Amino acid sequence: MARIAKVVVEISLDREFDYLIPAHLQASIKVGSQVNVPFRSRELRGFVVGLSTYSAFADKLKPISGVVGEKPLIPDEIMKLAYWIAEYYCAPIEHAVRTVLPSAVRKRGAKHKKQLSVALTGKTPEKISALQDEVFQTLEAHGAMTISELKERTGCSDSPIRTLEKLGLVTISEETIQRDPHAGMELLRTKPFDLMVEQQTALDIINAEVDQEKPGTVLLHGVTGSGKTEVYLQAIQHALDKGKGAIVLVPEIALTPQTVDRFRSRFGECIAVLHSSLSDGERHDEWHRIRNGEAKIAIGARSALFSPIENVGLIVVDEEHEATYKQDESPRYNARDVAVMRGHLENCCVVLGSATPAMESFANVKNGRYKLAEMLMRVDDRSMPLMRVVDMCIEKERDGRPQIFSRELVEGIYDRLNVGEQTILFLNRRGFSSSLQCEQCGYVAECSACSVSMTYHKRDHKLMCHICGAEEKVPARCPKCSDPDFKYAGMGTEKIEEVLEKICPNARVARMDSDTMRKKDSYRTVLDKFRTGKIDILLGTQMIAKGLDFPNVTLVGVLHADMSLHVPDFRAGERTFQLLTQVAGRAGRGEKAGEVIVQAYTPHHPAIQAARSMDYEGFCAQDLEFRKELAYPPFSHLVLLTFKGESELDVMGAADRFFERLEPILPDSVSHCPPMPAPLARAKGQWRYQIMLRCEHTVKMTKPIRYVQSQYKLPKGVTLTVDVDALSLL
Ligand code: ADP
Ligand code: ZN
Repeated sequence: MARIAKVVVEISLDREFDYLIPAHLQASIKVGSQVNVPFRSRELRGFVVGLSTYSAFADKLKPISGVVGEKPLIPDEIMKLAYWIAEYYCAPIEHAVRTVLPSAVRKRGAKHKKQLSVALTGKTPEKISALQDEVFQTLEAHGAMTISELKERTGCSDSPIRTLEKLGLVTISEETIQRDPHAGMELLRTKPFDLMVEQQTALDIINAEVDQEKPGTVLLHGVTGSGKTEVYLQAIQHALDKGKGAIVLVPEIALTPQTVDRFRSRFGECIAVLHSSLSDGERHDEWHRIRNGEAKIAIGARSALFSPIENVGLIVVDEEHEATYKQDESPRYNARDVAVMRGHLENCCVVLGSATPAMESFANVKNGRYKLAEMLMRVDDRSMPLMRVVDMCIEKERDGRPQIFSRELVEGIYDRLNVGEQTILFLNRRGFSSSLQCEQCGYVAECSACSVSMTYHKRDHKLMCHICGAEEKVPARCPKCSDPDFKYAGMGTEKIEEVLEKICPNARVARMDSDTMRKKDSYRTVLDKFRTGKIDILLGTQMIAKGLDFPNVTLVGVLHADMSLHVPDFRAGERTFQLLTQVAGRAGRGEKAGEVIVQAYTPHHPAIQAARSMDYEGFCAQDLEFRKELAYPPFSHLVLLTFKGESELDVMGAADRFFERLEPILPDSVSHCPPMPAPLARAKGQWRYQIMLRCEHTVKMTKPIRYVQSQYKLPKGVTLTVDVDALSLL
């Protein structure tokens, strides 16, 4: 019998501690149980991550002092997943354990909300006061109610109610109430659509997989507007019919209210929504609604993957190519990839859906690991929007100076305004201008803590750093040469808004970026206005690129489409292609055809051309060829080590020392080069140096890294992050 429990305590120590399991707790302690343990001179909360009969420290062990709750908080399969995450992503196990259990559930004091309910016992009163009688009468007339409601109705305090309890006339009992984050937001229930042919084929492929003994992963490649969501909904229904549950991951839940609403209105109560905007109490209750089986479906961002749904039949990862699935703190896991792992561990089908699947997923179809379901037509034979690319260099020549709007785009906007149709304008940069530059000496205002130029924000008349958020006053003259003629170079959404006011003063314009969307509900409010036709032009950053479905939008304009190409990252082309395809997909989703006008300075770039002709496979073929040559993912896995600290010398030294130890023990199959300053050389006052490793097998990199980590202590003030399958190379 297991007498020893391996416990991970809630403070950051990358190891497990052994504790004795006292006899009276033998039955209740399981892997995943939350326990209280004596630790040094205090008591800490921890999780049992393993059981054993043996401990190297057997004679010195302290016993566990108590177990919290009846059922283990972390089910077996999810605990296994946590171990896998820690191993694969080179993270401490307690970080992984913390990740799989929301803090709202984990932390001390997390509990169900209780309320006191008062009911009559049936006994008839003999001699009671007027107030007590009023309480009695109220209960008799309206039935049992909460104590607060009773007090409100009668205007009395606790005491007459307590007296009635003593007299045996009423009972006061405690009951748990569910905090409902959607109270007052009821949705009409929707019925399944009759599927289009391609949708049916895709659904058949998925359902067949769900029914398999050993289900696999299906990549659902469906163009924008092909009806992927309806396929997810019906596949989930199929899983439910088989008595199984489902998990749906969406990129950023606050930004996809439309998608979430579609799930809620199909499944109602049986779905738990894990918003990032839930209060801790709501999150706690939603989690327990899943844990006790009341909710069979969980939908949410990345961490919803760890919902304790029992008997999962299907996991859907919508917009699987999205970088938001990657967590940017330890453990740096990618929820898409961990979803595939959970599917593997729990024998459930995983569906990865996208109009522009990541190269990694596409490659997994090519090598036979994933099945493919394709939907290349829009629902109801709606046509894909026509995309035109405008060469802004020619525009510049024609007008003798750089232009913000091409003539085509201005005309397009006017046309839409005239007939009452709507326009979406996209520019992936907020603020007014991207930099402040002196024409005389070339001075550019840079952040004092980061190696980037400051962005000018006109409304606040301030310079802002988009990396660290620092704000500065705009200098009256150049700090270097004292020339007063500053030039604002580049453009942001704020500037576009101003220009729009000039060229179409009567249009109703709304801007959507992280500067205007600071309040919790502003996103929903603006979208509601747009939906109901109270806004003509919606202007924004990548916030508006995804998932929006507005039938009256017939024009999408992309300003400066090649901006995302000028990033030192091998995925720049892929990202640009994805972004253009997604934004373009917002047009022509209703009866009327859509048009997309893309403005670019490098109109012939393959990513832009492929997006124009909607040639996903063609783009993949070309991009994969380039990646193969350089052995970049998906032909390898990539591990990025980033050393950070305030002293550049220390950071550089630490990276060098680390590399000296690492290099000799790396297998030949790992390609690497010595430490280098990161593309973003400094951020938030910290210098950054990187080592990039690539190899087909992740362990061949992570094992040596772990070894060096255990042998070499970083100098004070220097930290190291290990990012396995890094998506951001900055
Ligand atoms: P995607 O997610 O692939 O971009 P959506 O799921 O948003 O596409 O579907 C586009 C639109 O088509 C939505 O308004 C949806 O309600 C509608 N739709 C989906 N499937 C059908 C169908 N079989 N019949 C009619 N309309 C459908
Ligand atoms: Zn900064």
